[in-house]
Amino acid sequence: MTSQLNLDSVLRLILKSAAAMLSGEVGLIALTDEEGNFKAKATFGVEADRLHLFAPVLEDIGDAYGAGLNYEELDLKMKVVARALDIRLRQVIALPMVIHDENVGVIFVFRTYRVDPNPNDTAVLQSFADQAAVAVHNARLYQTVSAEQMRLAAILDHSADGIMILDSQGRITRFNKALGRITGRAASEAVGHMHDMVIVWNRIEQGTPLGAALAKGWPRPMPTEAPPDTLYVEGDLARPDGTQLSVGITYAPLLAEDGRVHNIIANVRDITNFRKAQQMQSTFISVISHELKTPVALIKGYAGTLRREDAKWDTNTIKNSLKVIEEEADRLTALIENLLAASKLQAEGMRLSLGDVRLDVLAARSVERFQMQTKTHKLVIHFAPNFPVIQGDETRLRQVIDNLISNAIKYSPKGGEIRISGSFDAGSVMVAVTDHGVGISQEDQEHVFQRFFRVEDALSRTTQGTGLGLYLAKAVIDAHRGTLAVESQPGKGATFRFTLPRQGSRTA
Ligand code: ADP
Repeated sequence: MTSQLNLDSVLRLILKSAAAMLSGEVGLIALTDEEGNFKAKATFGVEADRLHLFAPVLEDIGDAYGAGLNYEELDLKMKVVARALDIRLRQVIALPMVIHDENVGVIFVFRTYRVDPNPNDTAVLQSFADQAAVAVHNARLYQTVSAEQMRLAAILDHSADGIMILDSQGRITRFNKALGRITGRAASEAVGHMHDMVIVWNRIEQGTPLGAALAKGWPRPMPTEAPPDTLYVEGDLARPDGTQLSVGITYAPLLAEDGRVHNIIANVRDITNFRKAQQMQSTFISVISHELKTPVALIKGYAGTLRREDAKWDTNTIKNSLKVIEEEADRLTALIENLLAASKLQAEGMRLSLGDVRLDVLAARSVERFQMQTKTHKLVIHFAPNFPVIQGDETRLRQVIDNLISNAIKYSPKGGEIRISGSFDAGSVMVAVTDHGVGISQEDQEHVFQRFFRVEDALSRTTQGTGLGLYLAKAVIDAHRGTLAVESQPGKGATFRFTLPRQGSRTA
Protein backbone atom coordinates (compact mmCIF):
# COMPACT_ATOMS: atom_id res chain seq x y z
CA MET A 1 0.00 0.00 0.00
CA THR A 2 2.69 2.47 1.02
CA SER A 3 4.71 1.83 -2.14
CA GLN A 4 1.84 2.92 -4.43
CA LEU A 5 2.15 6.48 -5.75
CA ASN A 6 -1.04 6.97 -7.68
CA LEU A 7 -3.55 8.47 -5.23
CA ASP A 8 -6.65 6.90 -6.81
CA SER A 9 -5.23 3.39 -6.79
CA VAL A 10 -3.94 3.89 -3.23
CA LEU A 11 -7.42 4.86 -2.07
CA ARG A 12 -9.03 1.93 -3.89
CA LEU A 13 -6.51 -0.46 -2.33
CA ILE A 14 -7.03 0.91 1.19
CA LEU A 15 -10.77 0.72 0.87
CA LYS A 16 -10.75 -2.80 -0.51
CA SER A 17 -8.48 -4.02 2.30
CA ALA A 18 -10.50 -2.23 4.99
CA ALA A 19 -13.79 -3.63 3.68
CA ALA A 20 -12.28 -7.11 3.53
CA MET A 21 -10.91 -6.87 7.09
CA LEU A 22 -14.21 -5.71 8.48
CA SER A 23 -16.45 -7.74 6.17
CA GLY A 24 -18.07 -4.49 5.15
CA GLU A 25 -20.71 -4.17 2.48
CA VAL A 26 -20.07 -0.57 1.57
CA GLY A 27 -17.02 1.61 2.03
CA LEU A 28 -16.05 5.23 1.59
CA ILE A 29 -12.90 7.26 1.98
CA ALA A 30 -13.11 10.97 2.60
CA LEU A 31 -9.99 13.13 2.44
CA THR A 32 -9.51 16.58 3.88
CA ASP A 33 -9.06 19.37 1.38
CA GLU A 34 -6.93 22.50 1.85
CA GLU A 35 -9.65 24.18 3.91
CA GLY A 36 -9.95 21.18 6.23
CA ASN A 37 -13.30 19.98 4.80
CA PHE A 38 -13.92 16.29 4.17
CA LYS A 39 -14.63 15.25 0.60
CA ALA A 40 -15.59 11.74 -0.53
CA LYS A 41 -12.82 10.44 -2.81
CA ALA A 42 -13.42 6.70 -3.25
CA THR A 43 -16.24 4.24 -2.71
CA PHE A 44 -16.60 0.53 -2.41
CA GLY A 45 -19.83 -1.37 -2.95
CA VAL A 46 -21.68 1.58 -4.46
CA GLU A 47 -21.32 3.34 -7.78
CA ALA A 48 -19.17 6.47 -7.82
CA ASP A 49 -22.13 8.48 -9.14
CA ARG A 50 -23.93 7.91 -5.81
CA LEU A 51 -21.11 9.47 -3.79
CA HIS A 52 -23.17 12.58 -3.15
CA LEU A 53 -25.62 10.53 -1.09
CA PHE A 54 -22.92 10.21 1.58
CA ALA A 55 -22.90 13.96 2.14
CA PRO A 56 -24.70 13.78 5.52
CA VAL A 57 -22.02 11.39 6.90
CA LEU A 58 -19.29 13.84 5.99
CA GLU A 59 -20.93 16.86 7.59
CA ASP A 60 -19.29 18.13 10.76
CA ILE A 61 -16.85 15.21 11.14
CA GLY A 62 -14.09 17.78 10.93
CA ASP A 63 -15.18 19.14 14.29
CA ALA A 64 -16.04 15.75 15.70
CA TYR A 65 -12.62 14.28 14.95
CA GLY A 66 -10.65 16.26 17.52
CA ALA A 67 -12.96 15.20 20.31
CA GLY A 68 -13.27 11.66 18.97
CA LEU A 69 -15.95 10.53 16.58
CA ASN A 70 -19.48 10.63 17.86
CA TYR A 71 -20.77 7.16 16.94
CA GLU A 72 -24.34 7.85 17.96
CA GLU A 73 -24.55 10.70 15.56
CA LEU A 74 -22.73 8.73 12.85
CA ASP A 75 -25.23 5.90 13.25
CA LEU A 76 -28.08 8.34 12.71
CA LYS A 77 -26.44 9.76 9.61
CA MET A 78 -25.74 6.23 8.36
CA LYS A 79 -29.46 5.47 8.50
CA VAL A 80 -30.25 8.45 6.31
CA VAL A 81 -27.66 7.28 3.79
CA ALA A 82 -28.86 3.65 3.95
CA ARG A 83 -32.39 4.78 3.17
CA ALA A 84 -31.18 6.86 0.22
CA LEU A 85 -29.08 3.95 -1.08
CA ASP A 86 -31.81 1.47 -0.33
CA ILE A 87 -29.41 -0.88 1.51
CA ARG A 88 -29.94 -2.21 5.03
CA LEU A 89 -26.90 -0.95 6.92
CA ARG A 90 -26.54 -1.72 10.61
CA GLN A 91 -23.13 -0.48 11.65
CA VAL A 92 -20.59 2.15 10.59
CA ILE A 93 -16.93 1.94 11.56
CA ALA A 94 -14.86 5.05 11.03
CA LEU A 95 -11.06 4.98 11.01
CA PRO A 96 -9.38 8.39 11.06
CA MET A 97 -6.14 8.46 9.06
CA VAL A 98 -3.63 10.52 11.00
CA ILE A 99 -0.05 11.37 10.15
CA HIS A 100 2.15 13.86 12.02
CA ASP A 101 -0.91 14.85 14.09
CA GLU A 102 -2.72 15.82 10.95
CA ASN A 103 -5.94 14.17 9.94
CA VAL A 104 -5.64 13.40 6.22
CA GLY A 105 -9.04 11.70 6.05
CA VAL A 106 -11.40 9.04 7.35
CA ILE A 107 -12.11 5.49 6.15
CA PHE A 108 -15.75 4.50 6.62
CA VAL A 109 -16.86 0.91 6.43
CA PHE A 110 -20.59 0.11 6.60
CA ARG A 111 -21.85 -3.31 7.60
CA THR A 112 -25.20 -5.02 7.28
CA TYR A 113 -24.77 -6.55 10.74
CA ARG A 114 -23.53 -5.22 14.03
CA VAL A 115 -20.56 -6.60 15.97
CA ASP A 116 -18.69 -4.24 18.23
CA PRO A 117 -14.92 -4.69 17.80
CA ASN A 118 -12.90 -5.75 20.84
CA PRO A 119 -9.85 -3.63 21.92
CA ASN A 120 -7.52 -5.96 20.06
CA ASP A 121 -9.42 -5.50 16.80
CA THR A 122 -9.42 -1.75 17.36
CA ALA A 123 -5.62 -1.70 17.74
CA VAL A 124 -5.16 -3.68 14.49
CA LEU A 125 -7.60 -1.40 12.66
CA GLN A 126 -5.87 1.71 13.93
CA SER A 127 -2.48 0.45 12.81
CA PHE A 128 -3.98 -0.25 9.39
CA ALA A 129 -5.40 3.27 9.29
CA ASP A 130 -1.99 4.71 10.20
CA GLN A 131 -0.38 2.80 7.32
CA ALA A 132 -3.14 4.04 5.05
CA ALA A 133 -2.40 7.60 6.20
CA VAL A 134 1.26 7.17 5.22
CA ALA A 135 0.23 5.82 1.82
CA VAL A 136 -2.15 8.73 1.20
CA HIS A 137 0.46 11.21 2.37
CA ASN A 138 3.10 9.75 0.01
CA ALA A 139 0.75 9.68 -2.94
CA ARG A 140 -0.27 13.26 -2.29
CA LEU A 141 3.34 14.39 -2.01
CA TYR A 142 4.09 12.61 -5.26
CA GLN A 143 1.11 14.28 -6.88
CA THR A 144 2.29 17.71 -5.72
CA VAL A 145 5.84 17.08 -6.95
CA SER A 146 4.63 15.82 -10.34
CA ALA A 147 2.28 18.78 -10.71
CA GLU A 148 5.12 21.12 -9.81
CA GLN A 149 7.36 19.40 -12.33
CA MET A 150 4.74 19.73 -15.03
CA ARG A 151 4.30 23.38 -14.19
CA LEU A 152 8.05 23.92 -14.45
CA ALA A 153 8.16 22.07 -17.78
CA ALA A 154 5.27 24.22 -19.05
CA ILE A 155 7.05 27.40 -17.94
CA LEU A 156 10.23 26.24 -19.69
CA ASP A 157 8.36 25.33 -22.83
CA HIS A 158 6.39 28.54 -23.05
CA SER A 159 9.36 30.80 -22.43
CA ALA A 160 10.16 32.94 -25.45
CA ASP A 161 13.85 32.56 -24.69
CA GLY A 162 15.71 29.37 -25.45
CA ILE A 163 16.51 27.50 -22.23
CA MET A 164 18.52 24.35 -21.64
CA ILE A 165 19.75 22.62 -18.53
CA LEU A 166 23.09 20.83 -18.55
CA ASP A 167 24.36 18.30 -16.07
CA SER A 168 27.77 18.63 -14.45
CA GLN A 169 29.40 16.96 -17.49
CA GLY A 170 27.88 19.45 -19.96
CA ARG A 171 25.28 16.99 -21.19
CA ILE A 172 21.90 18.43 -22.13
CA THR A 173 19.10 17.24 -19.84
CA ARG A 174 16.41 19.73 -20.81
CA PHE A 175 15.86 21.71 -23.99
CA ASN A 176 12.82 23.90 -24.54
CA LYS A 177 10.80 24.63 -27.69
CA ALA A 178 12.13 28.15 -28.18
CA LEU A 179 15.66 26.78 -28.19
CA GLY A 180 14.58 24.31 -30.85
CA ARG A 181 13.54 27.24 -33.03
CA ILE A 182 16.78 29.12 -32.32
CA THR A 183 19.20 26.26 -32.89
CA GLY A 184 17.22 24.51 -35.62
CA ARG A 185 17.27 21.20 -33.69
CA ALA A 186 14.39 19.40 -32.01
CA ALA A 187 14.64 18.64 -28.30
CA SER A 188 14.80 14.94 -29.16
CA GLU A 189 17.99 15.55 -31.17
CA ALA A 190 19.57 17.55 -28.37
CA VAL A 191 18.69 15.93 -25.04
CA GLY A 192 21.36 13.45 -23.99
CA HIS A 193 23.98 15.06 -26.24
CA MET A 194 26.83 17.28 -25.20
CA HIS A 195 26.41 21.06 -25.16
CA ASP A 196 29.14 21.58 -27.78
CA MET A 197 27.34 19.43 -30.30
CA VAL A 198 24.35 21.80 -30.32
CA ILE A 199 26.02 25.14 -29.60
CA VAL A 200 28.48 25.57 -32.47
CA TRP A 201 29.86 29.09 -32.89
CA ASN A 202 30.66 30.46 -36.33
CA ARG A 203 31.98 33.59 -34.75
CA ILE A 204 32.27 34.86 -31.20
CA GLU A 205 31.67 38.54 -30.69
CA GLN A 206 32.07 38.69 -26.95
CA GLY A 207 32.88 36.37 -24.03
CA THR A 208 34.48 32.94 -23.70
CA PRO A 209 32.67 29.83 -24.93
CA LEU A 210 31.49 27.43 -22.25
CA GLY A 211 34.13 24.70 -22.76
CA ALA A 212 37.03 27.13 -22.57
CA ALA A 213 35.50 28.93 -19.58
CA LEU A 214 35.09 25.64 -17.68
CA ALA A 215 38.70 24.76 -18.46
CA LYS A 216 39.74 28.13 -17.05
CA GLY A 217 37.99 27.43 -13.78
CA TRP A 218 34.56 28.94 -14.32
CA PRO A 219 32.44 29.16 -12.19
CA ARG A 220 34.22 30.51 -9.15
CA PRO A 221 33.10 28.69 -5.99
CA MET A 222 30.81 31.10 -4.21
CA PRO A 223 28.92 31.11 -0.96
CA THR A 224 25.42 29.87 -1.75
CA GLU A 225 23.76 33.15 -0.82
CA ALA A 226 25.92 35.13 -3.29
CA PRO A 227 24.52 35.75 -6.79
CA PRO A 228 25.82 33.06 -9.18
CA ASP A 229 28.95 33.71 -11.23
CA THR A 230 27.29 33.85 -14.67
CA LEU A 231 29.00 33.58 -18.04
CA TYR A 232 27.88 35.55 -21.10
CA VAL A 233 28.80 34.65 -24.67
CA GLU A 234 27.59 36.45 -27.75
CA GLY A 235 28.10 35.60 -31.40
CA ASP A 236 26.80 33.82 -34.47
CA LEU A 237 25.47 30.33 -33.99
CA ALA A 238 25.87 27.77 -36.80
CA ARG A 239 22.68 25.83 -37.51
CA PRO A 240 22.41 22.41 -39.15
CA ASP A 241 20.82 23.87 -42.32
CA GLY A 242 23.88 26.05 -42.91
CA THR A 243 22.27 29.32 -41.79
CA GLN A 244 23.43 31.25 -38.77
CA LEU A 245 21.79 33.32 -36.07
CA SER A 246 23.07 36.00 -33.72
CA VAL A 247 22.52 34.94 -30.12
CA GLY A 248 23.56 35.88 -26.62
CA ILE A 249 23.82 33.01 -24.11
CA THR A 250 23.90 33.47 -20.36
CA TYR A 251 25.13 30.43 -18.41
CA ALA A 252 24.28 30.25 -14.73
CA PRO A 253 25.76 27.48 -12.56
CA LEU A 254 23.75 25.62 -9.94
CA LEU A 255 26.29 24.65 -7.31
CA ALA A 256 26.02 21.79 -4.83
CA GLU A 257 26.72 22.44 -1.14
CA ASP A 258 30.36 21.44 -1.60
CA GLY A 259 30.75 24.13 -4.29
CA ARG A 260 30.87 21.72 -7.22
CA VAL A 261 28.77 22.36 -10.32
CA HIS A 262 25.52 20.45 -10.16
CA ASN A 263 23.83 21.87 -13.24
CA ILE A 264 24.31 24.70 -15.67
CA ILE A 265 21.29 26.62 -16.86
CA ALA A 266 21.72 28.27 -20.25
CA ASN A 267 19.45 31.06 -21.40
CA VAL A 268 19.74 31.66 -25.14
CA ARG A 269 18.38 34.84 -26.68
CA ASP A 270 17.97 35.67 -30.36
CA ILE A 271 19.63 39.09 -30.69
CA THR A 272 19.21 39.55 -34.45
CA ASN A 273 17.03 42.64 -34.01
CA PHE A 274 19.38 44.14 -31.48
CA ARG A 275 22.29 43.58 -33.87
CA LYS A 276 20.36 45.13 -36.73
CA ALA A 277 19.57 48.18 -34.63
CA GLN A 278 23.21 48.48 -33.66
CA GLN A 279 24.30 48.15 -37.26
CA MET A 280 21.73 50.68 -38.39
CA GLN A 281 22.97 53.13 -35.83
CA SER A 282 26.54 52.86 -37.00
CA THR A 283 25.51 53.03 -40.67
CA PHE A 284 23.44 56.06 -39.81
CA ILE A 285 26.37 57.85 -38.23
CA SER A 286 28.78 57.05 -41.06
CA VAL A 287 26.26 57.89 -43.81
CA ILE A 288 25.16 61.11 -42.18
CA SER A 289 28.64 62.32 -41.45
CA HIS A 290 29.68 61.55 -45.02
CA GLU A 291 26.60 63.19 -46.48
CA LEU A 292 27.01 66.28 -44.34
CA LYS A 293 30.71 66.60 -44.96
CA THR A 294 30.57 66.61 -48.75
CA PRO A 295 28.32 69.64 -49.28
CA VAL A 296 29.89 71.52 -46.39
CA ALA A 297 33.35 70.95 -47.88
CA LEU A 298 32.16 72.19 -51.28
CA ILE A 299 30.48 75.26 -49.84
CA LYS A 300 33.53 76.09 -47.77
CA GLY A 301 35.86 75.52 -50.74
CA TYR A 302 33.94 77.75 -53.11
CA ALA A 303 33.28 80.44 -50.52
CA GLY A 304 36.97 80.43 -49.55
CA THR A 305 38.05 80.74 -53.17
CA LEU A 306 35.67 83.62 -53.86
CA ARG A 307 36.89 85.43 -50.77
CA ARG A 308 40.55 85.37 -51.77
CA GLU A 309 41.74 88.93 -51.92
CA ASP A 310 44.65 88.27 -54.25
CA ALA A 311 42.42 87.05 -57.07
CA LYS A 312 39.95 88.76 -59.31
CA TRP A 313 37.06 86.63 -60.55
CA ASP A 314 35.06 87.23 -63.65
CA THR A 315 31.28 87.36 -63.35
CA ASN A 316 30.83 83.91 -64.86
CA THR A 317 33.11 82.21 -62.35
CA ILE A 318 31.42 84.03 -59.50
CA LYS A 319 27.99 83.02 -60.84
CA ASN A 320 28.98 79.38 -61.25
CA SER A 321 30.58 79.22 -57.83
CA LEU A 322 27.54 80.76 -56.18
CA LYS A 323 25.38 78.26 -58.06
CA VAL A 324 27.37 75.38 -56.60
CA ILE A 325 27.11 76.92 -53.12
CA GLU A 326 23.35 77.30 -53.56
CA GLU A 327 22.94 73.74 -54.84
CA GLU A 328 24.97 72.28 -52.02
CA ALA A 329 23.04 74.33 -49.46
CA ASP A 330 19.83 72.95 -51.02
CA ARG A 331 21.23 69.46 -50.75
CA LEU A 332 21.96 70.03 -47.08
CA THR A 333 18.46 71.35 -46.50
CA ALA A 334 16.98 68.32 -48.29
CA LEU A 335 19.10 65.99 -46.21
CA ILE A 336 18.09 67.65 -42.97
CA GLU A 337 14.44 67.60 -44.04
CA ASN A 338 14.68 63.91 -44.83
CA LEU A 339 16.23 63.20 -41.47
CA LEU A 340 13.57 65.17 -39.67
CA ALA A 341 10.84 63.49 -41.70
CA ALA A 342 12.24 60.06 -40.87
CA SER A 343 12.47 60.73 -37.15
CA LYS A 344 9.03 62.35 -37.11
CA LEU A 345 7.64 59.39 -39.00
CA GLN A 346 8.96 57.05 -36.34
CA ALA A 347 7.58 59.19 -33.53
CA GLU A 348 4.12 60.02 -34.80
CA GLY A 349 3.48 58.28 -38.11
CA MET A 350 2.67 60.18 -41.28
CA ARG A 351 0.04 62.90 -41.48
CA LEU A 352 -1.25 63.88 -44.90
CA SER A 353 -2.87 67.09 -46.01
CA LEU A 354 -5.21 65.87 -48.69
CA GLY A 355 -6.31 67.68 -51.79
CA ASP A 356 -6.70 67.17 -55.53
CA VAL A 357 -3.51 65.81 -57.06
CA ARG A 358 -2.73 65.54 -60.78
CA LEU A 359 0.02 62.97 -60.92
CA ASP A 360 0.47 63.44 -64.70
CA VAL A 361 1.19 67.13 -64.18
CA LEU A 362 3.47 66.49 -61.18
CA ALA A 363 5.43 63.89 -63.16
CA ALA A 364 5.79 66.17 -66.19
CA ARG A 365 7.19 68.96 -64.01
CA SER A 366 9.67 66.61 -62.33
CA VAL A 367 10.80 65.25 -65.68
CA GLU A 368 11.39 68.75 -66.94
CA ARG A 369 13.44 69.67 -63.88
CA PHE A 370 15.54 66.51 -63.85
CA GLN A 371 16.14 66.56 -67.61
CA MET A 372 17.89 69.89 -67.13
CA GLN A 373 20.36 68.25 -64.77
CA THR A 374 21.49 65.39 -67.00
CA LYS A 375 22.68 65.07 -70.54
CA THR A 376 23.44 61.33 -70.51
CA HIS A 377 19.89 60.28 -69.61
CA LYS A 378 16.82 60.67 -71.74
CA LEU A 379 13.71 61.08 -69.66
CA VAL A 380 10.55 59.89 -71.38
CA ILE A 381 7.10 60.37 -69.97
CA HIS A 382 3.96 58.58 -70.97
CA PHE A 383 0.72 58.94 -69.05
CA ALA A 384 -2.61 57.52 -70.23
CA PRO A 385 -4.96 60.23 -71.48
CA ASN A 386 -7.70 61.47 -69.14
CA PHE A 387 -5.57 60.55 -66.18
CA PRO A 388 -7.73 60.72 -63.04
CA VAL A 389 -7.25 63.41 -60.42
CA ILE A 390 -6.77 61.66 -57.11
CA GLN A 391 -7.06 62.70 -53.49
CA GLY A 392 -3.65 62.89 -51.91
CA ASP A 393 -0.90 64.98 -50.37
CA GLU A 394 0.64 66.81 -53.30
CA THR A 395 3.90 67.85 -51.65
CA ARG A 396 4.64 64.34 -50.46
CA LEU A 397 3.64 62.65 -53.70
CA ARG A 398 5.94 65.04 -55.55
CA GLN A 399 8.75 63.99 -53.21
CA VAL A 400 8.05 60.36 -54.08
CA ILE A 401 8.17 60.96 -57.84
CA ASP A 402 11.30 63.12 -57.47
CA ASN A 403 12.99 60.46 -55.39
CA LEU A 404 12.24 57.68 -57.87
CA ILE A 405 13.47 59.73 -60.83
CA SER A 406 16.55 60.92 -58.94
CA ASN A 407 17.39 57.31 -58.01
CA ALA A 408 16.85 56.16 -61.60
CA ILE A 409 19.41 58.75 -62.70
CA LYS A 410 21.85 58.07 -59.84
CA TYR A 411 21.84 54.33 -60.29
CA SER A 412 22.19 54.26 -64.07
CA PRO A 413 25.59 55.92 -64.32
CA LYS A 414 25.99 55.02 -67.98
CA GLY A 415 22.88 56.96 -68.88
CA GLY A 416 20.11 55.67 -71.11
CA GLU A 417 16.39 56.03 -71.19
CA ILE A 418 14.36 56.60 -68.05
CA ARG A 419 10.68 56.07 -68.57
CA ILE A 420 7.97 57.50 -66.34
CA SER A 421 4.61 56.03 -67.14
CA GLY A 422 1.15 56.35 -65.68
CA SER A 423 -1.86 54.10 -66.13
CA PHE A 424 -5.11 53.50 -64.27
CA ASP A 425 -8.00 51.12 -63.97
CA ALA A 426 -11.35 51.30 -62.22
CA GLY A 427 -9.87 51.04 -58.72
CA SER A 428 -6.40 52.56 -58.80
CA VAL A 429 -3.76 54.60 -60.55
CA MET A 430 -0.26 53.29 -61.24
CA VAL A 431 2.97 55.21 -61.76
CA ALA A 432 6.17 53.44 -62.79
CA VAL A 433 9.74 54.68 -63.16
CA THR A 434 11.96 52.40 -65.24
CA ASP A 435 15.69 52.74 -65.77
CA HIS A 436 18.38 50.68 -67.48
CA GLY A 437 20.95 51.01 -64.74
CA VAL A 438 22.74 48.69 -62.35
CA GLY A 439 19.57 47.07 -61.04
CA ILE A 440 19.09 45.48 -57.61
CA SER A 441 19.67 41.86 -56.63
CA GLN A 442 16.72 39.81 -55.40
CA GLU A 443 18.12 39.79 -51.87
CA ASP A 444 18.63 43.55 -51.74
CA GLN A 445 15.18 44.19 -53.20
CA GLU A 446 13.75 43.01 -49.87
CA HIS A 447 15.68 45.69 -48.00
CA VAL A 448 15.70 48.81 -50.18
CA PHE A 449 12.66 50.26 -48.39
CA GLN A 450 14.30 50.00 -44.99
CA ARG A 451 15.67 53.00 -43.19
CA PHE A 452 19.31 53.79 -44.05
CA PHE A 453 19.62 50.76 -46.29
CA ARG A 454 21.99 51.21 -49.22
CA VAL A 455 23.15 48.45 -51.53
CA GLU A 456 26.77 47.74 -50.73
CA ASP A 457 28.62 48.19 -53.98
CA ALA A 458 31.12 50.50 -55.54
CA LEU A 459 28.41 52.68 -57.07
CA SER A 460 26.65 53.32 -53.75
CA ARG A 461 29.95 54.23 -52.20
CA THR A 462 30.60 56.89 -54.81
CA THR A 463 27.05 58.24 -55.19
CA GLN A 464 25.55 60.44 -52.55
CA GLY A 465 22.67 59.03 -50.61
CA THR A 466 21.40 58.27 -47.15
CA GLY A 467 19.14 55.30 -47.66
CA LEU A 468 16.21 57.40 -46.52
CA GLY A 469 14.59 58.24 -49.86
CA LEU A 470 12.80 54.95 -50.51
CA TYR A 471 11.96 54.50 -46.83
CA LEU A 472 10.16 57.84 -46.82
CA ALA A 473 8.61 57.20 -50.25
CA LYS A 474 7.14 53.94 -49.02
CA ALA A 475 5.80 55.63 -45.89
CA VAL A 476 4.08 58.26 -48.05
CA ILE A 477 2.52 55.65 -50.34
CA ASP A 478 1.47 53.48 -47.37
CA ALA A 479 -0.18 56.48 -45.74
CA HIS A 480 -2.21 56.89 -48.97
CA ARG A 481 -3.17 53.19 -48.64
CA GLY A 482 -1.23 52.42 -51.79
CA THR A 483 1.64 50.08 -52.57
CA LEU A 484 5.22 50.69 -53.67
CA ALA A 485 7.26 47.83 -55.09
CA VAL A 486 10.35 47.17 -57.13
CA GLU A 487 11.09 44.79 -59.97
CA SER A 488 14.63 44.45 -61.15
CA GLN A 489 17.19 42.31 -62.87
CA PRO A 490 20.70 43.08 -61.73
CA GLY A 491 22.65 44.73 -64.52
CA LYS A 492 19.54 45.43 -66.57
CA GLY A 493 17.82 48.15 -64.62
CA ALA A 494 14.94 48.56 -62.25
CA THR A 495 11.29 49.53 -62.23
CA PHE A 496 9.77 51.15 -59.16
CA ARG A 497 6.00 51.18 -59.30
CA PHE A 498 3.46 52.69 -56.97
CA THR A 499 -0.28 52.34 -57.02
CA LEU A 500 -2.75 54.57 -55.25
CA PRO A 501 -6.45 53.98 -54.77
CA ARG A 502 -8.76 56.06 -56.93
CA GLN A 503 -11.32 56.21 -54.16
CA GLY A 504 -12.62 59.77 -53.94
CA SER A 505 -10.92 60.70 -57.20
CA ARG A 506 -12.51 62.12 -60.31
CA THR A 507 -11.52 62.35 -63.95
CA ALA A 508 -9.66 65.44 -65.04
P1 ADP B 1 19.79 56.63 -51.36
O1 ADP B 1 19.57 56.73 -52.83
O2 ADP B 1 19.80 57.95 -50.68
O3 ADP B 1 20.92 55.75 -50.99
P2 ADP B 1 17.19 55.31 -51.27
O4 ADP B 1 16.38 54.94 -50.09
O5 ADP B 1 16.54 56.21 -52.26
O6 ADP B 1 18.53 55.91 -50.70
O7 ADP B 1 17.63 53.98 -51.97
C1 ADP B 1 18.19 52.94 -51.20
C2 ADP B 1 19.14 52.10 -52.01
O8 ADP B 1 18.42 51.36 -52.99
C3 ADP B 1 20.16 52.90 -52.77
O9 ADP B 1 21.28 53.18 -51.99
C4 ADP B 1 20.49 51.99 -53.94
O10 ADP B 1 21.47 51.08 -53.53
C5 ADP B 1 19.20 51.22 -54.18
N1 ADP B 1 18.42 51.80 -55.30
C6 ADP B 1 17.42 52.70 -55.22
N2 ADP B 1 16.92 52.98 -56.43
C7 ADP B 1 17.62 52.24 -57.31
C8 ADP B 1 17.57 52.07 -58.74
N3 ADP B 1 16.71 52.74 -59.50
N4 ADP B 1 18.45 51.20 -59.29
C9 ADP B 1 19.33 50.52 -58.53
N5 ADP B 1 19.41 50.64 -57.19
C10 ADP B 1 18.58 51.49 -56.57
